[in-house]
Amino acid sequence: MSVDQAIELANEIPLFFETEIRKLSLAHNMILANSLESKVDDPRFDNSAMDGWAVKEADCTTPNSKLEIIGTIQAGSSEQIEVKQGQACRIMTGAPIPSGADSIVMIEDSVILDGFVSIIGPARPHFIRKQGENITIGEIGLESGSKLKPSHLAMAAMMGYAEIPVIKPPKIAIIGTGDELIEPGQPLEAGQIYESNTTALVGLVSEMGCEPVKFPFVSDDINSLRKAFDLAASECDAILTSGGVSMGEWDLVRRLMEKEGDIKFWKILIKPGGPPLFGSWKNTPLFGLPGNPVSSQIVFLSIVVPWISNSCGYHPIQGPKLFDKVRVKLLSAAKGTKNKVTLRRIQISERDDILIGEVPENQGSGNLRSMIDCNGLTFLPMGVDGKPGDIIDALWLR
Ligand code: AMP
Ligand code: MG
Repeated sequence: MSVDQAIELANEIPLFFETEIRKLSLAHNMILANSLESKVDDPRFDNSAMDGWAVKEADCTTPNSKLEIIGTIQAGSSEQIEVKQGQACRIMTGAPIPSGADSIVMIEDSVILDGFVSIIGPARPHFIRKQGENITIGEIGLESGSKLKPSHLAMAAMMGYAEIPVIKPPKIAIIGTGDELIEPGQPLEAGQIYESNTTALVGLVSEMGCEPVKFPFVSDDINSLRKAFDLAASECDAILTSGGVSMGEWDLVRRLMEKEGDIKFWKILIKPGGPPLFGSWKNTPLFGLPGNPVSSQIVFLSIVVPWISNSCGYHPIQGPKLFDKVRVKLLSAAKGTKNKVTLRRIQISERDDILIGEVPENQGSGNLRSMIDCNGLTFLPMGVDGKPGDIIDALWLR
């Protein structure tokens, strides 16, 4: 099954989510659940972009013109002042433009005399910020499915919202499996390794706007696995497992899902990626990710990311993103695979105004270090080899 077919099938069992209303101060990095229209014009009224003088431009065309000072207007003021010919009103940044004025002279371009101001620089109409030039009442300022970064939250505030609807992060259970696994920090015995996949998955899940719920990892024992699945299905909206989905005798996630779960697909045509599995356990969607550390992350990026984005209606540009699709020029060869999309780890950097990709040698799917040393993945279509100098599709990891 191709990656696209797998995503399509997974989308048939979407991730369940609810929405909630949050105060702006508690909404950082959450996902906006509805588009928001502005409740105000921005700017709300014509105002000064500078500290200076509100004047008539025509009064300032001759050098050193002398204008009568008629008052001062500050930000927040509602005072009605009219600037007539030959007059200037002192004005602060953000203050409403007095009637009659059509330009601003910067304070640096003036000299104050007795009751008069001598204008020694230009009067500029564009130092007036026009009402509604940024956004008008009723216009959509923030799109549904946007990840709320500080500027988004400030925009919501500017538009008049004290609280906003956000996606309540769906809970995603993360379950590692394998007899060889030991919690980092504990002493190791022969044949054992530190468990690391679930730690990566916790980060990836939360980057995608969901709440990771890490379960104790499970040994290769069908009863323990069943118990863990039952608990996860009762407490969470989806389940991610790592390991135990290949062809081996001890690949019990696959065996249990075959016997007692509901499998939608097993194996997709990507390399690395092993044979991931998707289906449901007691109506809870479940991704069985491969155990190899690189594969588990790559499969998450390839199929879990689009599944979450689609389920929750994330915005294609403003929504959570773990990578950007880019074109890179290969500096060295990146071997493809006959009937699989190949995601080789590459180092992407900029050279002579284009992105280049270097392909390190050690591409083992167990080589977690290669995910640190590299910041990108090739996206080589089936049967396509990347030769030095080729410009190819790639994913630039954020
Ligand atoms: P499996 O898919 O269970 O056959 O595992 C494939 C490889 O990934 C084996 O070398 C495992 O030891 C390793 N592996 C599986 N799960 C984890 C994990 N949670 N953390 C680190 N390595 C793992
Ligand atoms: Mg295993």
